[in-house]
Amino acid sequence: MSITGKNKNWTVDDAANLYGIKKWGAGYFGVDPNGDVVITPSGGDNGPRVSLHEVARGIEDRGLAMPVLLRIENILGSQIKRLHTTFAKVMEEIGYKGVFKGVFPIKVNQQEQVIEAITQFGEKYNHGLEAGSKPELIAAISMLKNREACLVCNGYKDEEFIDLGLYATKMGLRCFFVLEMPDELDLILKRAKKIGVRPLLGLRIKLSTRADGLWAESGGETSVFGLNMSQVIDVIDRLKKDDKLDCLQLLHYHIGSQIPNIQDIRAGVLEACRIYEELVKEGAAMGHLDLGGGLAVDYDGSKTNHPSSRNYSVEEYCYDIVETIASVLDKANIDHPTIITESGRATVAYYSVLLFNILDVTTATPNPIPKELPKTTYDLLDNLMETYTRISAKDFQECYNDTLFYKSQAQQLFKHGHITLRERALADDLLKHILLKIAAVMAELEHPPSELAEIEKLIADVYYGNFSLFQSMPDVWAIDQLFPVMPIHRLNEDPPRTAIIADITCDCDGRIDTFPAYPHTRETIHLHNLKAGEDYYLGVFLVGAYQETLGDLHNLFGDTNVVSIHVHEDGSYDFVRELEGDSVADVLDYVEYDIKAIKKRMKDFAEDSIRKGFITVQERRQILRHFNEGLQGYTYFEKE
Ligand SMILES: *Cc1c(COP(=O)(O)O)cnc(C)c1O
Repeated sequence: MSITGKNKNWTVDDAANLYGIKKWGAGYFGVDPNGDVVITPSGGDNGPRVSLHEVARGIEDRGLAMPVLLRIENILGSQIKRLHTTFAKVMEEIGYKGVFKGVFPIKVNQQEQVIEAITQFGEKYNHGLEAGSKPELIAAISMLKNREACLVCNGYKDEEFIDLGLYATKMGLRCFFVLEMPDELDLILKRAKKIGVRPLLGLRIKLSTRADGLWAESGGETSVFGLNMSQVIDVIDRLKKDDKLDCLQLLHYHIGSQIPNIQDIRAGVLEACRIYEELVKEGAAMGHLDLGGGLAVDYDGSKTNHPSSRNYSVEEYCYDIVETIASVLDKANIDHPTIITESGRATVAYYSVLLFNILDVTTATPNPIPKELPKTTYDLLDNLMETYTRISAKDFQECYNDTLFYKSQAQQLFKHGHITLRERALADDLLKHILLKIAAVMAELEHPPSELAEIEKLIADVYYGNFSLFQSMPDVWAIDQLFPVMPIHRLNEDPPRTAIIADITCDCDGRIDTFPAYPHTRETIHLHNLKAGEDYYLGVFLVGAYQETLGDLHNLFGDTNVVSIHVHEDGSYDFVRELEGDSVADVLDYVEYDIKAIKKRMKDFAEDSIRKGFITVQERRQILRHFNEGLQGYTYFEKE
């Protein structure tokens, strides 16, 4: 509903502030003077700029329909570079004698194109991979060519998993087996002897440190992963007995993803350093300290310890880690280890944007108020009219309270048969007029009261987007994850409507109704009116981590089309990889339908319909053609 929209002096800077793009965009996204979202893949104002709206149109011109997951490859490269160069800079400043080697945990985005791009961009930094299962390990070995990079194996390992890793070791890859359970040790040593290679071993420990945030359960003593201290001692003793302490070269912990508070990161690394020190004193070779993931993404741009934010920069993250390790180990006179982090989220989140078009809008605009109200036995309608006329900056609060009372009265009177459907509809319209007027009055105030958000929600339009929340951003549904959303064009126009966004699954949870705002989140978003004959595009940003594989086939909406672009220094760009999304037949096949049998049953039914006189032979042909085309089509809404 229209609350803003009165601003004649609207500029693209107002749009940038409204949607907070500079706050959450990490220098990769901005707004250009003609109102499009621009991508600046080098981060910041230097380097090439590309209009996201132009890219979206280019994708459609190439025949790929919305929704599309767009990957901007350079952003991935920039993120890997940012992490490595920042660590290198901080290490130099502090005089750290070890090096940094990142690894990418495959579980965060297993798509072949993503892992391929990571190993390419990561090559010169010796960026490695982390695998937690057999399929991930096979994927990793097949991608990682760099023998200086680390390949870290977490997770429970059976004989086959172990053999795979040992063969990788034999071919010269730095493959670490991280023990999650003490019993894995015997099997690894047994298989290593058989295959004839010395395994590289690591320990995953349970820290007592717990991190705040949505993944707090990953850390602390009650975490299900890792060895407790007495198990660590057991492992040491067994290695000592076998004279294999030289194989133990890595200490690992992971206290959770998306750690919003830098204090927790500091506390974790401090505790781990103490254990590292003790392991060295026990005679283990060591040399690698692996801090796991947790480097957070500032999804809402608030720079706070809110679960969807982080109260630190990458510089502070690196500085606190390097500084803590150096100071603890210097005191104990122990060499500085190679630092490994398993940053997944922060590495890939920024480089994917989900693009979709708006299909339809249900507006909350009520019918005009009639000149004369119908006579009813109850004075509800007159009371509503009186309230409407009365609203002013002085008594809007009282009017709002009255309105809430009349609202429930209207529902009660209708339920008990005292007013007709027409009267109820009129009452609803009047209620909306009142709320609109109150909202307009509130919006004018210097400090709009907190009820404004409540009212905006009541009078919000619903914008129906051509996407499935469950497929493309399942964490919104599962854990109330916040992602920034905004129109990717028309940002030079004041967006006059207040809305929530619904997807095209027929599930009432398929909606986005929490948006980044400052200082708090808000439950509605300002959007533009649709223009006849022109598509309206929105983007959901920072969706590169975790969403693709966790996404599911709710309502049988399948994988979206995926396009990657590579931006050149002069601002031109290539469409480098293209993946067609699922067809209707693909998703039916996932749920075990036999497509041939479907076609046969359809033919039989059409034949039966001819026999019984429902359709003609010509109609049969037309119907079956249509049906077959339907099977080949995209699962999302297609334009004619
Ligand atoms: C999930 C996971 C990660 C990735 O964490 P991010 O917060 O995405 O960086 C790293 N290591 C382990 C062991 C994990 O389970």
